[in-house]
Parts: sequence; C-alpha cells; structure tokens
Amino acid sequence: MARILIVEDEERISSFIAKGLKADGYVTSTVADGAQGLDYALTGDFDLVILDINLPSMNGFEVLEQMRASGSDLPVIVLTARDSVTDTVSALEGGADDYMPKPFRFAELLARVRLRLRQANESPSTRDDEVEVGRIRLDLRTRQASVGGKELDLSAREFKLAEIFMLNAGQVLSREQLLSHVWGYDFDPGSNVVDVYVGYLRRKFGSESISTVRGMGYRFNAARP
Ligand code: CA
Repeated sequence: MARILIVEDEERISSFIAKGLKADGYVTSTVADGAQGLDYALTGDFDLVILDINLPSMNGFEVLEQMRASGSDLPVIVLTARDSVTDTVSALEGGADDYMPKPFRFAELLARVRLRLRQANESPSTRDDEVEVGRIRLDLRTRQASVGGKELDLSAREFKLAEIFMLNAGQVLSREQLLSHVWGYDFDPGSNVVDVYVGYLRRKFGSESISTVRGMGYRFNAARP
C-alpha cells in the first residue's frame, strides 16, 4: 500500500486530497508547512509527495530543491496555479515529476498519482524491454514497433505516445497527461497536436486501437481482436 505525503497549507484542499486518496486505498500524511514537509519527505517513509508551491516557512520550489540536493528521487507532483506557466516550468526544471494545475478534479490527480507510482516501481533493471498489447508490440530498447510480427515505422513522437498508451492500456489518459509525457512542458495547452498524433497511430495500429472518451481523453484498448 503506497504512502503519500501531502504538503499543502490550505486545509480545504489537503483534506479533499487526503479523503480521495484514502478512499482509493492509499495511506496519507498531511503537513501544512514547507520545512516540515521537507523533513517528512526525507524520512524515507513515503512513496510519493504532493507538494504545494505557496507554503509557510519554505516554498515548494525550495522543498523540491532541498529534496533533490539530498539525493531523494521520490516522485513529486507539484500543485501549481492554473494560470502560472512560470510555476509549471520552474517546478519541472526543479525536478518535479509532474504538476497539477489548481483547481482540479480529483480523478485527474489520482490518474497522475497512479502513473507516477507505477513508473517509480519500474526501475530500469526490472523494467521489461518490451510492451505488448494484443498484436501490437514495442521494443523499448531498439525503439521498433510491430503489428502481428510485421515491422512498422513510427516517428520518435509516435513511439513515445504509443508507449505511454500501451503501458496504460485500458485506462483513460487526458490530453494534458499525454502532452506532458510526450511533448514535455514546451507546448501550447490549446494545441491539437495530441489529436493529430492519435490519428497517426490509429492509421498505423487500426482505428479501433484507440477510443475517444468524450470530455476525458483517449483510451488504448487492451482487448483487441
Ligand atoms: Ca498554499
């Protein structure tokens, strides 16, 4: 059972997050102060940190910086203001693994928590070199893709997008998640680049491989004929 540290001084927000995570089976601890958050994060008692930026005594950027300086590679999801691109960029450059613009729906945060915890469990030595869903196969070492044993040409972006989709087969991924994983933070959130690339993958993998989930995003279908 994963243990999650919530560093957030707004009680309304931290209790909303804690309640949701507990309902999903996670163990949570909440602290409302930056310096205390850093102490907790460095105890080794947690699997993931959800970190606010504006905090008493030490802000989120400083907490993150100190954590990384201390050698901690704990996954960190930073809570940023929706309108602050600067915060988002600084957080990612400062070693955050992901960010969540406020206000957010709990489901969005939960999807990120799950993804980050899964990635943290896939250390390079134990991680499979291949991903296979139905007839589609990706060789993560050679970056080659095949469908039913037949090799397929994918661009670097297409490969990365296919990888994220297939590692999360059956789950809905939002455009925002796909953007941040495949294109990094250097993108225009209003761009339709994800939709365009999903179109490319459908053409190569078959139109039924990826479903559009209205208002939510896309899902790579686990069970294929
Ligand atoms: Ca705050």
